[in-house]
This record gives sequence, C-alpha cells and structure tokens, in this order.
Amino acid sequence: MACLALLAFAAPSSAPEPPDLPPALRDLWREGVVVARGARSVVIGHHAGQSSLDDLARRADEAGRRVAAVLGRPVRPLIVVPDSTREAAGLAGAARVDGLAAVADHGRVIVVPEFFAMLNSTGKDVVLTHELTHVAAGTDHLPVWLYEGFADYVGYRDAGIPLRTAAAELAAEVRAGRLPSELPGPAAFAADGRDPERLARAYQEAWLACRFLADRFGEGTLVGLYRAAQAVGVDRALASRGLSTATLTARWRDYVRDQLA
Ligand SMILES: [Zn+2]
Repeated sequence: MACLALLAFAAPSSAPEPPDLPPALRDLWREGVVVARGARSVVIGHHAGQSSLDDLARRADEAGRRVAAVLGRPVRPLIVVPDSTREAAGLAGAARVDGLAAVADHGRVIVVPEFFAMLNSTGKDVVLTHELTHVAAGTDHLPVWLYEGFADYVGYRDAGIPLRTAAAELAAEVRAGRLPSELPGPAAFAADGRDPERLARAYQEAWLACRFLADRFGEGTLVGLYRAAQAVGVDRALASRGLSTATLTARWRDYVRDQLA
C-alpha cells in the first residue's frame, strides 16, 4: 500500500519514481495518474474524468462492503482504470480482455473501460463485487466452478436481481427439460466468444452450486468450504461436510430444477 499513498499525494512529473511500484503501474505513473479515494477504496486512472473515478470509488466502497459482509473481514479495494481495452490487457498480462468488463489481477481490479461503460448501474456493482471477491478471497487451488460460483454468489447476493433474470440462459434450458449433468469445468468457461450462451450458463451453474450450499447449509458453511478447499483441496473439504462431488452434483441438479423450472 505504500506505493498507493505515493501515487495519491505526489506530483507525477516532478516526483522521483517510487522504487516499489509494479512495472504495470509505472507506465501509469509516468503518463500522469488521477486518483480518487472512497472511504476504503482507491481508484487509479489516467485520462479519465475525475467524476467517473469518483463514481467508481463509491461503487468500489459498496462492493468492498458486500465482499466484507460475506468474508467477515474488511476489504480495501484497489481499482485501476486504464485508457483502453488494449491497455487493460497489457496491465493484466493477458492477450485479450475483449468482452470482459473488469478483471481481477494481483490484488487489484482492472476495469476494461469500453465494456464496463456498457453495463447499467446494477451490472457495474455486480461486476465490481465479483472481481473484488476474486481479489479478496483468492482463486488458487480451487476448481473453477467454486471460485467463479463464489464470486457470483457474493456479486448477486445484495444486487436485488430476480434469480430467473440473472440466470436467464440456464432457466431457459431447464424449462426446455435440459438439466446440466455435471458442475461446469474449464471447458465450459473457455467457451468465450464462440458460444456466449454456454459461457453465461457456466457462470449461472457455478453460481447456483454455491447458492445451494449457502441456502442449504448456511453462508458460513459456504465460506468455510471455500477456505478449506484452498487449504486441503475440494474433495477433502466436501468430505468433511458429508458431501462428495457426486452427492453435491445430484443435489445441485435438484436445486437448479426447483429454483428455475
Ligand atoms: Zn470471475
């Protein structure tokens, strides 16, 4: 956080370069950054209007409150707003971020400006909360259904969107008599631009797996399972709660049908 304080208070053109600034932020530093501060959040951008950064700081505070309410500890959001989709990809070290509104990367959320701007107010809050969940809770050593489902669970928890609206693609499948057969894996999440509906359903399937765990066993159990899975693997974490991937899958399918039919 030391470099953040420098970014907030120093004049970029005259101040010496902070020695511990990550390379990706050093470019922003050289070109001149604008900083907005919320109650707990810091938003760094450049060439963007201060008003949009102030709006992001307010949203980041709210997203931080939502994530903290689930994780049970304070969250201090750091949001980076690049100038373009291309710069966002460069900062994230990704080949492409097209179609994504924001990405979680090394302790910060990088907004993809063109795509973020397409979202309505509720969508912006859901996306920021989702990505901030990845940053705050971590994603290592977990199956994709658990970390994406958990991020959507936190993202939608306080969003006020009806389930059948937020999970419209999956609801349409269920109404057509088709239930998913297994928890979504990497292939389902790799569908990207070729099959956007499949990708949407993958997130919704993962979300409902985590929503089922919270509804049936309590939110604390979901959070505990997430942490345990990071420590000992998902199979042992499920087993210590009397579940296996097979039993969870069967009960999740029933839940999906009950909630969306
Ligand atoms: Zn995600």
